[in-house]
Amino acid sequence: VRANFSEVQDENNEMSGIITVLSDVTEQEKIERERRDFVANVSHELRTPLTTMRSYLEALTEGNTWKDENIAPKFLSVTQNETERMIRLVNDLLQLSKMDNKDYQLHKERVNYTDFIHHVVDRFELNLKEDITITRDIPNRNYYVWIDKDKIIQVLDNIISNAIKYSPEGGEIIVQVVEEKHQLLTKISDEGVGIPEKNLDKIFDRFYRVDKARSRQLGGTGLGLAIAKELIEAHDGEVWANSKEHEGTTITFRLPLMQKKRGHRK
Ligand code: ADP
Repeated sequence: VRANFSEVQDENNEMSGIITVLSDVTEQEKIERERRDFVANVSHELRTPLTTMRSYLEALTEGNTWKDENIAPKFLSVTQNETERMIRLVNDLLQLSKMDNKDYQLHKERVNYTDFIHHVVDRFELNLKEDITITRDIPNRNYYVWIDKDKIIQVLDNIISNAIKYSPEGGEIIVQVVEEKHQLLTKISDEGVGIPEKNLDKIFDRFYRVDKARSRQLGGTGLGLAIAKELIEAHDGEVWANSKEHEGTTITFRLPLMQKKRGHRK
């Protein structure tokens, strides 16, 4: 805490009091440090794919390597992957910067969450390339929530694609919806590598990865869960992780339930 003292004088120039201003420097310094770390992280994250691309492009332009049918396609595909990852990174950064803006607005509406989540999982199943199954544990009744659909789709996209990324071959992912005290919990569980206990809270920090090399290799940006957390909090919800190393991970988020509609779905 920083303290500033100023004397207060009356009309006879006599000191009549002291004004003390206490400011919380630690908080300011923390924000400043986070900002610096963020810029350093972004620079590093962009430099890595750029230097990789430079080496591969240099190798291609040396001699007649670009004509070599065995090498050229592989090298080009590396540069293509790196470009894709940079685009994802920049898109994620733009999303975070939009959310940092105080005028950022969500377009919330009343949504039948049961239909919504089935729809999202359907779409995932259509595009599943890996040998992975998605099992649904979703009650057969309507739940209504007040959400920005696109944003919650993004949250689910980020969490489910992580579950797929970190799952073993033949793994099962469970998407579960549970009602709990006027809240709706969505749980996404996988049978993947898991996350060490001590890192569990950090995975929602910007750029935090348990295993940087592995995340990069899988095309990650390190921002997916940070974005998910901010979006869920903008919906008055909360997101957290449970995990056991080598057994699997469950990411849970809760959203306030609008009203309870009893009765079964057709
Ligand atoms: P990334 O783009 O690296 O996946 P995220 O912000 O989505 O970034 O996740 C941060 C980190 O949390 C990941 O790098 C990974 O270490 C860990 N993680 C997230 N989801 C899972 C999961 N389902 N299983 C194991 N680790 C996970």
